Amino acid sequence: MPTEQKILAALRTVLHNGQDVVERGMVAGMTIAPEGKVSVILQITPDKSLDPDALKKQTEKAIAGVGGVTSASVILTAHQAAHAAPPERKSHVPQKLSLPHVKYIVAVASGKGGVGKSTTAVNLACALAQKGLKVGLLDADIYGPSIPRMMGLSGKTETNADKKLVPHLREGMAVMSMGFLIDEEMPMVWRGPMVHTAITQLFRDVEWGARDIIVVDLPPGTGDAQLTMAQSVPLAGAVIVSTPQDIALLDARKGIAMFQKVDVPILGLIENMSYFDCPHCHTRTDIFSHGGAHAEADKLKVLFLGEIPLDLAVREKSDSGQPIVLSDPASPITAQYKAMADQLWASLSA
Ligand code: ADP
Repeated sequence: MPTEQKILAALRTVLHNGQDVVERGMVAGMTIAPEGKVSVILQITPDKSLDPDALKKQTEKAIAGVGGVTSASVILTAHQAAHAAPPERKSHVPQKLSLPHVKYIVAVASGKGGVGKSTTAVNLACALAQKGLKVGLLDADIYGPSIPRMMGLSGKTETNADKKLVPHLREGMAVMSMGFLIDEEMPMVWRGPMVHTAITQLFRDVEWGARDIIVVDLPPGTGDAQLTMAQSVPLAGAVIVSTPQDIALLDARKGIAMFQKVDVPILGLIENMSYFDCPHCHTRTDIFSHGGAHAEADKLKVLFLGEIPLDLAVREKSDSGQPIVLSDPASPITAQYKAMADQLWASLSA
């Protein structure tokens, strides 16, 4: 399996005017699909000395030479001449968006998929809204946007007189998702290169209004989307969701390390599918040897926000558009989500 480092090393062999494309800040995005399909976006500027076709072919050849790459595609995007000056920094660091009416933007992330990141983002957002806060919920998971289904929302996204997208509303929460904007049939390989533009658009071109907090459901992993978020969105911090298994924690550690590297504070770690309470015999079973995330959080000096059991109602309700926090206020799990929201809000406002 090719790694981002290996692809970057190959890109460093592609020269334009004596400088490599990485050094020139031309690399605007990269996706490495599991079967070794690599796509890279290069940002080019109108320049007579540049032959875009030759650059594309040369770059694709360099990527294809990396072990494990089964296909290489390079997408060139053009920039206006006014922005043509090559950046002084080694990597492409976009300017941060300014969102003066939003107090905090918090990313919910996980090192790998299927750990319950979206379920956690949805229920945390609902618990924050029930505290009386003005909440936004943004589904930035371009590979599997699930928030429309979890929030029971569908339909076209309207545009207002200022040509801004109007978020869908649920219990006072403003909800926006990649799922409202992309075609479900769009091949995965095309989604990666869109991440950067799509994430910035979801902030810049959506009428969020005044919000105390926007909870962002990130795609899983530590790739392009996470870096785009960290570099272009003024994040107050990230919440990491993990299951207790070692393997998931290893992935969670990678996620934590990545955010720390780009100076995004880790606001806390949540252990999901922590244990199983049998609804019939009322016996608790620690399926994945419960407690791993708490121990890991302590070791990494990260706040442990709490744990959520593996529970049929959580799954049924989130998959049917009725998040447990909204549909079952008396559930102990709702209380657990609310306690996490309280802790999160307290640490943000501290
Ligand atoms: P991710 O965003 O990490 O890919 P999801 O939130 O989409 O994960 O959850 C994956 C599946 O697991 C969904 O069907 C969801 O309903 C279910 N799920 C998530 N958390 C729990 C839980 N605590 N108990 C039972 N099912 C859960």
